[in-house]
Amino acid sequence: MMVLGIDIGGAQIKAGMVDERGAILASRTVPTPADLDAFLVSLHDAVRWLLEATTLPAGVGVGCKGTINPDSTQVETLWGGLHFLQGLRLSELVGLPKDVPVFADNDARVALAGEMVWGAARGHEHALMLTLGMGVGGAVLANGQLLRGHTGVAGNLGHITVEADGDPCACGGRGCLETVFSARAIEAAAWNAVHRGCASVLTRLFREQPQLVTCRTIFQAASEGDDVAAGIIAKAIRRLGAALAGLLHVFDPELVILGGHVADAGADLLVPLQEEVWSRSRGLLGREVPLVEQQVTDKSGIVGAAGLVMAPRG
Ligand SMILES: [Zn+2]
Repeated sequence: MMVLGIDIGGAQIKAGMVDERGAILASRTVPTPADLDAFLVSLHDAVRWLLEATTLPAGVGVGCKGTINPDSTQVETLWGGLHFLQGLRLSELVGLPKDVPVFADNDARVALAGEMVWGAARGHEHALMLTLGMGVGGAVLANGQLLRGHTGVAGNLGHITVEADGDPCACGGRGCLETVFSARAIEAAAWNAVHRGCASVLTRLFREQPQLVTCRTIFQAASEGDDVAAGIIAKAIRRLGAALAGLLHVFDPELVILGGHVADAGADLLVPLQEEVWSRSRGLLGREVPLVEQQVTDKSGIVGAAGLVMAPRG
């Protein structure tokens, strides 16, 4: 069986044919156009090329930013460069025969769908997924199903409040998890330290090579003993741990899956985070919930989107 996975991002549209083992057989990437007409031409060109290279897929999975109604595939809310998709049904845009089913959902749920079929959530009924990138995405697997809620925004774990009087967030709230543990938040904290003139390897590095201001550099400096970097990382991890401990009490998952490029820090993140979560949750839960890295390593989003077709649904 082969399915078509499509990832619609702000910069690129990626489409690929994926087999039942989760391997990409053929793929196309095109820049995201600025309006609907150009978008349809680009998408249809990519799909036509894939059909010529392979065959008609058994189903289509589409990952897209914003709030997507999974029943109708309609884009309910979507801001930014892809706003022209708002109100449209993704199933009607793909351009394949009507008997090929089309499933669609937001980025984070798509990532969890991929984990359910080929990754860390396989065989599990209860799991949390956090995608730690420039922002923080989230998705919840509860009773074997992706949790969507009344209006489709359930599982938006990046926007739970961890600081009641914290910084304003893009969502309109304050002190959301995304404002304290995301690549953007960690990098901003490092910049602030540099601007204050803190004695840190970051001060020299960032002034000489501003392109090195990345989460990876800051984690690296922390692991090499830089006190300022270590303080920034420890503070961010403490807050993420506090948020996760609360989430464990709410959802009682079997495991927590961490994806996104900030999770590439690996043990430098997972080990202190696990300690923080355990210290805050052992009393009520009485068991240590494993925190694991995402296993579907495809960064394109194509495999996750394909997983949407194959994931169990209620
Ligand atoms: Zn927020």
